[in-house]
Amino acid sequence: MTLVLDTTSTHLPFDIARIRRDFPILKREVAPGVPLVYLDNAATSQRPVQVIASITRYYRDHNANIHRGVHTLSVESTDMYEGERAKIAQFINAPDAREIIFTRNTTESINLVAHAWGRKFLQAGDEVVLSEIEHHSNIVPWQMLRDERGIVLRFIPMLPDGTLDLDEARRLIGPKTKLLSVTAMSNALGSIVPLTDLIAMAKAEGATVLVDGAQSVPHMAVDVQALGIDFLAFSGHKMLGPNGIGVLWGRLDLLDAMDPFMGGGDMILTVTLDRSTWADVPAKFEAGTPDISGAIGLGVAVDYLAALGMDAIRKHEIEITDYALRRLADVPGLSIFGRPNAQERGGVISFELEGIHPHDVGQVLDTHGVAIRTGHHCAQPVMAALNVPATARASFYLYNTTEEVDALVDALEQTNAFFGTGR
Ligand code: PLP
Repeated sequence: MTLVLDTTSTHLPFDIARIRRDFPILKREVAPGVPLVYLDNAATSQRPVQVIASITRYYRDHNANIHRGVHTLSVESTDMYEGERAKIAQFINAPDAREIIFTRNTTESINLVAHAWGRKFLQAGDEVVLSEIEHHSNIVPWQMLRDERGIVLRFIPMLPDGTLDLDEARRLIGPKTKLLSVTAMSNALGSIVPLTDLIAMAKAEGATVLVDGAQSVPHMAVDVQALGIDFLAFSGHKMLGPNGIGVLWGRLDLLDAMDPFMGGGDMILTVTLDRSTWADVPAKFEAGTPDISGAIGLGVAVDYLAALGMDAIRKHEIEITDYALRRLADVPGLSIFGRPNAQERGGVISFELEGIHPHDVGQVLDTHGVAIRTGHHCAQPVMAALNVPATARASFYLYNTTEEVDALVDALEQTNAFFGTGR
C-alpha cells in the first residue's frame, strides 16, 4: 500500500526528472526488466554526465603533468587543477585556497592530520576525544598514534537512539583534551552530531577540532568559518565526484606549522644529498603527481551541487527520508535504528527485519533491483553498542524519488514473503 503524502517527486525542491537524466547509470537494469533502484549513496554516490565528460575532456584535450611545466598543456593542466582548489575553498567557505589539500579520500585526510599534526603536537598523556559513532577511518589512525606516542583516547558514548551523550561529552572534554575529532553525521545510523555544542566545549579548553565531513559535505551546507573548526576531511566520491580524490581543509597557520606527511617530488623547495627543505602549503602536503583529472571532476561535481543549492539538497533529503521513515514503519517485522524524525538525521536509514539476517535482506532486495548496503558499515563500535552484528542500510541522495522508496518497501514485503515469515 502506498501512502498518499504531499512529498511526491513533483513537490520536491527541484526537478528530479531533469536531474535523473544527468545520471545515465540510473537508467540501467540489473537484470532484464529489473530497473536499478540505487539506495547505497552513503557508500558512494553516482556521477552525472557533466563529471564523467570533464574527465574524458581533460585526458582528450589537456593531459600533462602539472607545476613547473613550460609547455601549453602543462600550463593548462596546472591552471585547471589549481582553479578547482579555489572553487572547493569557496564551497566550504574556506578563507584561502591554499588551505585545500588534495588527498585520496577522507581516510587519507584524517591520516594526514594524525601524522603531520598529531606527531608534531601531541605528547604522551595528551587526550584526543572521539565518539563511539565514528567510521573506522576516524578511530584507527588515532589508535595507531596512541600505540606509538602514548596519547589517550576518550570516546563520547552513543545513546540508544544513536545520538551522542552530551553530558558525558561535557565530562570528557577538559584541560587535557588537545583534539576533538568527530564526524558531522553517522554513516551507520544517519545521526546528525550537535557540532556546535561539541566545538564550543572543545574550544573552551583550547583544543583543536577536526570534523569528518564525509557524510555532511555532500548533503548539507558546510561553512568551516561559521563552525569555527580547524580541519575538515571529505571524499569526492560521495559527492558526485570521481573516486580517488578527497580533501583536507586546514587552517593555514596550522598547516604551515606542520611537517610533511609524505616526502618526494613537488613537496620540496630544495634537495641536496644531505637534506631537503619544504615547499609552502598546499604543495608541502601533495607529494608526487596528484590525481589531476580527479580534482577537475570534483570541481565539476561542486559546480553541480552548488547550482542545485545545498539547502535545497538537504530539504529534498529530509522529505525523502521522512517519507521513507513513514512507509518503512508499516513493513511487518521491520525496526529502524536511530531517531524517528527526519529533521534530526541525514538521508540514511539503518534497519533490521526480524528473523532475517541483513545480508539475506540485501540479497533478496538485489533481485528486485534495490541496491542497499548490509554489514557493519565500517562502524563496528556502533554495531557493538546496538548489540547487533550488522544492519541493513538504505541511503538517499539528490536523485532519489519517493517511487524508489516505494520500490524498497515492496521489495522488503517480498523479502518477508520469500522467507515465509508469515508476516
Ligand atoms: N567517515 C565517514 C563518516 C564515512 O561515511 C566514510 C565512508 O563511508 C569515511 C569516513 C571514509 O571515507 P573514504 O572511504 O572515502 O575514505
